[in-house]
Amino acid sequence: MAFNNNIKLHILGAGPAGLAAGYFAKKEGIPFHIFEASGVYGGNCRTIVEGDYRFDTGAHRFHDKNQEITKEIKSLMRDELQLVDAPSKIFINDNFIDFPLRLKDLFLHLETVDMIKIIFENIQNILRAKRSPMNFKELAYSKYGFTLSELFLIGYTEKLWGRESELLHTDVAGGRLKKLNLLSFLSEMIFKNKKSDHLDGSFYYPISGFGSIFDKMVEFIGIENISFNSPVRKLLHKDKRLEAIVYGDNDSVKITDVINTLPVDLTTNIFEPLLPKEIQDGINNIKYRNLKLCTVFLNIPQFSPNASIYFPEISNPITRIYEPKNRSSKMAPKDKTCIVVEVPYSIGDDTSSLVDEDIYSLIKTKLKKLFLIKEEDISRFKVMELSNAYPILMAENQYQLKKTVSFLNTFDNHHMIGRNSEFKYLHTHEIMLRAKRLIENFL
Ligand SMILES: Cc1cc2nc3c(=O)[nH]c(=O)nc-3n(C[C@H](O)[C@H](O)[C@H](O)COP(=O)(O)OP(=O)(O)OC[C@H]3O[C@@H](n4cnc5c(N)ncnc54)[C@H](O)[C@@H]3O)c2cc1C
Repeated sequence: MAFNNNIKLHILGAGPAGLAAGYFAKKEGIPFHIFEASGVYGGNCRTIVEGDYRFDTGAHRFHDKNQEITKEIKSLMRDELQLVDAPSKIFINDNFIDFPLRLKDLFLHLETVDMIKIIFENIQNILRAKRSPMNFKELAYSKYGFTLSELFLIGYTEKLWGRESELLHTDVAGGRLKKLNLLSFLSEMIFKNKKSDHLDGSFYYPISGFGSIFDKMVEFIGIENISFNSPVRKLLHKDKRLEAIVYGDNDSVKITDVINTLPVDLTTNIFEPLLPKEIQDGINNIKYRNLKLCTVFLNIPQFSPNASIYFPEISNPITRIYEPKNRSSKMAPKDKTCIVVEVPYSIGDDTSSLVDEDIYSLIKTKLKKLFLIKEEDISRFKVMELSNAYPILMAENQYQLKKTVSFLNTFDNHHMIGRNSEFKYLHTHEIMLRAKRLIENFL
């Protein structure tokens, strides 16, 4: 392929990180080109369109956590971005409990003895001297006490990440459990109508699905600036600078600057000449968690009023169900709906070997047993695989990993951003902010 010689920036990967980098580069007038291995853009963050149905690759919502990025996305999406008000629930012991938790619900659905333990343990936690938790289990116990953690957090976390919670880094909490403590419960009880900051059922969501954010970005970027089916195979370097990229069927292109959003283990292995052994060793033990996403199409107008339903019980392979129509009415026909069921797995485990029919049958049996679904309401199903959905953040390998990522970033013209590139539990608003800052630094 012949490239415009003026290209100053090559971007590897057309997921949210690569597209955000292209978007901000275009805004600043920096000539760029994107290489994408697959035939589509959006990475793990796409909206699938099937007939009259639309559904995302897992339950996505736009987190309004950074004003600068929210403003950017609002101006990109205009009236297509709407504020959605829909609650989320935890399904436990055959009951739906509000998520985030509310004291009233806990009193209603938990045994008195558990409630006494929860209150006692949380008062103990408030009084106890604070020390930094070394892993997720310590974080959960120190913030929420043993009983609350075991009921709602530990099983769910272990199921989602596929590792024991004492082995997981505290960052797997992802900030979403902030304020789940006795003080927030009490403030909510005292100021009856005022939900504490975290107990907020509203969020931003585009009317045509989360992936439409990236449709709009691509419209702006120009699809001709993305090469599809062009996997990057080698990064040639000399004197601490990248010199060329080898991609596709052994094509190559000389480069000035690179924004790299590829998984860090892939990156480490495609540097040529090879990187020092201790740098390669930094990625030896890293693993990703994958998801089987089973969309079940239903002949009923609504499955539940919830944005998401979480399943903490370890005996149930499902971690979460979400109903696209509760985020935007455009996601399903008026008299029908669909749900997307998330089942995490690791390569080589029992779930990984299940064929589509098996995974559907497992999910159906579970949901029928819990009285969440009736056979006659189901019209059909579709199973999709989402690889590298979550980088498994282990407490023990963070130091080595950081060393490798830092080393890779010491190459003058090589800049890594993205969930698997940085090996961090990042959401799209954080990735977009990183992309914006990188581009600002180019200017
Ligand atoms: C179930 C689920 C729910 C989520 N919910 C939310 C949410 O509510 N809000 C939110 O903001 N975020 C959410 N996220 C996170 C969000 O999806 C990720 O942060 C985002 O997809 C990461 O983008 P990325 O570009 O870093 O990586 P990816 O999405 O993984 O994209 C990487 C791209 O690089 C390409 N690539 C790989 N190898 C090569 C190669 N050799 N050459 C060229 N290209 C290559 C891939 O094909 C892909 O297109 C969720 C994620 C999951 C899995």
